[in-house]
Amino acid sequence: MRGAVLTHFFSYKYQKEPMSIQYQSLLGYRDEARRLHIHLTEIADTANHPAYEHEHVAEEAFYLLEGSAKYHFGGKIVHAGPGDVVFIPSGVRHAKIEYLSPSMRYLTIRTVEPEDEACCCGEDRAPISLKPCS
Ligand SMILES: [Zn+2]
Repeated sequence: MRGAVLTHFFSYKYQKEPMSIQYQSLLGYRDEARRLHIHLTEIADTANHPAYEHEHVAEEAFYLLEGSAKYHFGGKIVHAGPGDVVFIPSGVRHAKIEYLSPSMRYLTIRTVEPEDEACCCGEDRAPISLKPCS
């Protein structure tokens, strides 16, 4: 299976309404990628998608497939639509987004950094092993 593209579906673990946002890992740890991660993000209902402002060491880029939005980060506003790439540099707080369409579909491409928490989809690094109770 080396080099094969595997797909995995996950629901957003912080979202009360399941299926509002969905991630499909396209390239991750299971595919032997260690420094690069790609997932497809689908937001079915942007009106009910809460803001999740955050920052991380990883560099992150969104390649928009469907939908458009205004991304606020680093003191600027980037208006993006299908075919556009939004690049978030390392350490820049982001994810304040004004959605301009009822749904969104985009690729999230990000580096894997040991200092960061796992990606939202959890597929960018080895699964966390639970230690047995002593
Ligand atoms: Zn991010």
